[in-house]
Amino acid sequence: MSEPRPRLGGWGRLLFGLAAAAVVASGCAHRRPRLGTAEAVVTSAGTFLLVYESADRAGGEMVRRALIVGAPRLARWGTLRAPVEVQVLPTHESLERAVNRPGFDWLRAWARREVVFVQSPSTWFEGGPTQAQVNELLLHELTHCVMYQAASPGDEWQRKGIPVWFREGMASVTANQGYRRASWAGLARLLAGPPAEDPIDAPERLFREESDAVYSAGHHAFAFLVRRYGDGAVRGVLAEMHAGRGFEQAFEAAVGLRADAFVREFRRYVLMGGWRNAPPRFRRRGGHECEPSSFASPGESKSSSSAK
Ligand SMILES: [Zn+2]
Repeated sequence: MSEPRPRLGGWGRLLFGLAAAAVVASGCAHRRPRLGTAEAVVTSAGTFLLVYESADRAGGEMVRRALIVGAPRLARWGTLRAPVEVQVLPTHESLERAVNRPGFDWLRAWARREVVFVQSPSTWFEGGPTQAQVNELLLHELTHCVMYQAASPGDEWQRKGIPVWFREGMASVTANQGYRRASWAGLARLLAGPPAEDPIDAPERLFREESDAVYSAGHHAFAFLVRRYGDGAVRGVLAEMHAGRGFEQAFEAAVGLRADAFVREFRRYVLMGGWRNAPPRFRRRGGHECEPSSFASPGESKSSSSAK
């Protein structure tokens, strides 16, 4: 998913980012956006290098605010160990090109270990998003960065075998996106479908064409994991991976049962209707037992959907 990048720490990495931004700015205008403005944004979660087109001051400012607002929420899982470059790209096409994902019409952003690509909020849809919608998208993406950095000292996280339900579920739950996901009853119908359409196994085609199902399954599975085993178990899985283990071994060491056994337990919970006896907030919002909603605004359309 991500190509190797130079590994520099702290401000060295930041200076590399500034240099990279300058390269982008001097690149071929019809192939690459000219991200001519670069600024460091220092937050409680870590340091970001925000780059955007100089003419897109409004889009850059919305993303800058989202970084600051979202940072404290990341503390649940840890802080960034390396600076993250956040590129605000001027069009959807430039985003698809940057992340090499043609045909992902719903995509608004994409995270790697030390880079987040985001389509400028000013081009998401007519009228533009609210600040809360941008906050939600960025928090989802920053959660990925924290996860990837916590799971390995470099790009090794890509070879740890982290399943999509854990990766996307962690980001979705952290960003309080339960209101976007299928209900428990809806998820039960999805899980009862044919194996080729199973949203937990999430083959690439399903991810591209039925992303709602994949994100819903991930959200509920991760929420179930946190509710049953706690945030500490998740931090433990990340720490075990950082120490060298793959996801399967890390999960078993930190949670106390195999990951496939957990998924079977989750499927039973969904299919047998165990969620019907859960507390109302968990049952309604898919697991948000922390404060839900001043941060995200329910009711927006899929066109602003956050992903990756
Ligand atoms: Zn995601």
